[in-house]
Amino acid sequence: MDTYAWMVRFAELVSADAERLTRLDSAIGDGDHGSNLDRGMRAAAEALSADLPPGKVLMTAGRTLVSKTGGASGPLYGTALRRAGKALGDASEVGAVELGAALRAALEGVQELGKAEEGDKTMVDALAPAVTAYEAAAGEGLAAAARAALDAAEKGAEATVPLQARKGRASYLGPRSVGHQDPGAASTVLLFRALAETAA
Ligand code: ADP
Ligand code: MG
Ligand code: MG
Repeated sequence: MDTYAWMVRFAELVSADAERLTRLDSAIGDGDHGSNLDRGMRAAAEALSADLPPGKVLMTAGRTLVSKTGGASGPLYGTALRRAGKALGDASEVGAVELGAALRAALEGVQELGKAEEGDKTMVDALAPAVTAYEAAAGEGLAAAARAALDAAEKGAEATVPLQARKGRASYLGPRSVGHQDPGAASTVLLFRALAETAA
């Protein structure tokens, strides 16, 4: 698995969709999710180089996100990527099983920091089913597992629409948060789209 290609592709997809992410965040937040993540991932992509070991790529991207991305999503994505990188250690090759462990560690990091459970209308609603689907398909190899994860992330993000937010800024809206997709769940889909496109 080429984690460098994954992160660069994630940065591209975030950039291309920054306006949509910001529009989603305007409906139930403060309208900065697209610009926050775009700024952070641009800086991350610049900080990376193709010759770094796979785990170090994710740790560096995570560290950059924590320092460069404003809002709740910076520390959350940053922690996710740092934990994933730490789980990979200094291995030079990353297979389907290793990546599964890294994704599980990322989810645990997000939940430790943000205390969100599935159903709270956050990025966890896309990330948790994606990690579970990845693990279930890991025996079929990286590419198949990444496609399964993407499919689950998409369904999870779509399923946030009717939910009432219980974490983050959107929770301040109470019942008025119903009827909109969570922006962080939408950007998590992009993380898994980038993975599915680059996994081999
Ligand atoms: P902010 O809300 O500080 O402006 P962003 O707009 O960049 O930050 O990110 C908002 C997203 O962060 C939400 O859509 C949600 O997915 C995610 N989020 C917020 N709080 C939490 C939390 N406690 N746990 C998990 N995800 C969260
Ligand atoms: Mg916001
Ligand atoms: Mg904000």
